[in-house]
Amino acid sequence: MAIKNSNITESAYIHNFNAGPSILPREVIDKASEAILNFNNSGLSILEIGHRTPLFESVMEEARSLVRELMDLDEDHEVLFLHGGATTQFMQVPMNLLNEKDTAAYADTGVWSTKAIKEARLFGNAEIVCSSKESSFNFIPKDFAVPSDSKYFHITTNNTIYGTQWQKIPETSVPLIADMSSDIFSRKLNFNSFALIYAGAQKNMGAAGVNLLVVNKNILGKVNRAIPSIMDYRNHIKEKSMLNTPPVFAVFVSLLTLRWIKENGGVDSFEKRNTQKAELLYSAIDKSNLFNATTVKEDRSKMNVCFVMDDKEMEKKFLEFATENNIYGIKGHRLVGGFRASLYNALPYSSVEYLVEKMEEFEES
Ligand SMILES: *Cc1c(COP(=O)(O)O)cnc(C)c1O
Repeated sequence: MAIKNSNITESAYIHNFNAGPSILPREVIDKASEAILNFNNSGLSILEIGHRTPLFESVMEEARSLVRELMDLDEDHEVLFLHGGATTQFMQVPMNLLNEKDTAAYADTGVWSTKAIKEARLFGNAEIVCSSKESSFNFIPKDFAVPSDSKYFHITTNNTIYGTQWQKIPETSVPLIADMSSDIFSRKLNFNSFALIYAGAQKNMGAAGVNLLVVNKNILGKVNRAIPSIMDYRNHIKEKSMLNTPPVFAVFVSLLTLRWIKENGGVDSFEKRNTQKAELLYSAIDKSNLFNATTVKEDRSKMNVCFVMDDKEMEKKFLEFATENNIYGIKGHRLVGGFRASLYNALPYSSVEYLVEKMEEFEES
């Protein structure tokens, strides 16, 4: 049986632009497969070893220390791998940081921000200090103020669904918290300037089921509610991210990706590559008479490129044409329509060249 999957087939290479779970480096898939059969020559599968064994403890420790190294973190910041998706953090963040009478500031830049706001309101007050909702989330707000008595300010650095990205991280006097699910490790930032960063792994880092969390430990321990043990970041820090059984395989896949990022020049190097890929695709869209970008130019995401056509029937035809040509995952999110090409770290430049070629071919035909 022919396997039809991302970069796995030998015969037909599939260009995987999926938004998430998304493309991983071929090397990571190979090594993850080997580890399922025989992990580190132990004769056991990674799926059947105890998590409190030297075999797995070294996976967790290396993964945490690689995050520290790639993000250039200081001693105040702790690195955790937690269960669940970014959605879990929508509630875990306010549970740990927001008292019932307190207010946190939120930027409302898309569906994921909106969901984070909704969850925060279960624990305290969440004030929307800026929003791009009125214009279908097609830009990043610029002029706004964060009240100085806010407990924290929450942003979504890359809006996966709408294709906008904070190109400049706002400076605030209050602790800054970011959902970086879809642009983690894609560009260089001063990560120490964040009080807390979280990211579901399945966009740019690994397999679904694990969350990366980076937290400045000085902001913890200030709420007066009782926090369930498994939800309390301090317990996870104390237990070195091994409070209970971690999602072993998902952590291992993240480790493989982190090693791959390091071997390929680190975050700086991926920022350059991601910029080149995005420039190539956006300039093709801007040149085209058929395709139109959906977002304001200066806020365009380098990770998720959203574009549409005026003619919805023609959109259907292009989608079919793309599928016939082994282009996978470019259907836009149902809220935006049209197309979305995700250009995560593992997507090669050649796939973007190929997509652009096919867009031009379609336009000419
Ligand atoms: C995908 C995504 C989420 C949700 O992640 P889950 O792992 O499905 O909970 C949250 N925020 C952003 C920015 C995302 O891209």
